[in-house]
Amino acid sequence: MVNERSKALGEARSVIREIFEYGNARKKEIGAEKVFDFSLGNPGVPAPKEVNEEIVRLVGSMPSLALHGYTSAAGAPEVREAVAGYIRTAFGVPMSADGVYMTCGAAASLTITLNALCEEGDEFVVVTPCFPEYTVFIESAGGKAVTAAAGEGFHLDMAALDAAVGVHTKGVIINSPNNPTGAVYTRQELAALAALLEKKSAQRGAPVFLIADEPYRELTYGAEVPYPMAFYRNTIVCYSFSKSLSLAGERIGYIAVSPRCTAAEQVFAAVCGAGRALGFVCAPALFQRVVAKCLGKSGDIGEYRKNRDLLLNTLTRCGFACVPPEGAFYLFVKSPEADAAAFCERAKAHELLLVPSDGFGVKGYVRISYCVERAVIERSVPAFEALAKEYGLI
Ligand code: PLP
Repeated sequence: MVNERSKALGEARSVIREIFEYGNARKKEIGAEKVFDFSLGNPGVPAPKEVNEEIVRLVGSMPSLALHGYTSAAGAPEVREAVAGYIRTAFGVPMSADGVYMTCGAAASLTITLNALCEEGDEFVVVTPCFPEYTVFIESAGGKAVTAAAGEGFHLDMAALDAAVGVHTKGVIINSPNNPTGAVYTRQELAALAALLEKKSAQRGAPVFLIADEPYRELTYGAEVPYPMAFYRNTIVCYSFSKSLSLAGERIGYIAVSPRCTAAEQVFAAVCGAGRALGFVCAPALFQRVVAKCLGKSGDIGEYRKNRDLLLNTLTRCGFACVPPEGAFYLFVKSPEADAAAFCERAKAHELLLVPSDGFGVKGYVRISYCVERAVIERSVPAFEALAKEYGLI
């Protein structure tokens, strides 16, 4: 009666959402103050003031029909030009508006890109742990997801990538700063990855594309975030303003196809075609214009840094093992027992809502989203201490 695959996807339980819903119900039961919900990656600092200023300016200065009407399918020309200009200036790559496609956030950027590239038999390599939706997006585009485990400190493991990328590999997805680990890939890593992908492209006689998923680009605590397109020619950047500008609900982002891609015009035509086929044309018009004036900006990262430091110090003091995140707003913590889901259940008894790592493609860790109010972290300290005592860590 209906598409079985879609039905199964719709019915499959999203662990993160389930924990979040449990948290909401529990807050009603015992009071919001007593529940420590670290499940979702919903930005916790307000959008920078430029966002509201620009909304007000646009609403007051542009005729309503022009402001809210359709733009071109790929986005308003002046917005695409602004994005291209920003990429040229900030990262020194010769981007032009012809390679920019405005989208409804990173999820749309990724699904469009994967549908643009994927042909029968194609594989896409993901670095685990990774954003759980990658597999859904890859398989929906008709591809096969192949994993390459991250190495030391959750950075790229070239040997694992070498083994995972083969003749069927159409693309490799990287995400830096990373959800769920907070790792930020260095210049050396990107240079090594570029060399590997050049070698693999030569072996397969066709490009292996680098798909850079970048919703957290601006959210770092001092680490440089090198621009993948500056290292490897066959790069497609999937950007989103959801996290940097705290605009997750407004659904706005872009795809930037490097002009140095092999047959870049054809790749961009395929992006436009995939956008059309998926119904992702004309990203939200008001927010296209807003983000064009806020490129490179972000909410107050200092707040996330304070949250990170407080949580990291608390957990380390309690004896939990965690790698300090260099960016994004997640802490990836080693579960003190092999079964991360069982650990999450025991944490739940202390009203601590954590996400087991299994959905991210690895076992034995939990993800803690610290994009919450600081008071939540402060109030949660005794609960983490009690949990640590239960495991004999302190
Ligand atoms: N990619 C990663 C790594 C993410 O963490 C997220 C959202 O959490 C997305 C993509 C989707 O972002 P958007 O809300 O812009 O669609």
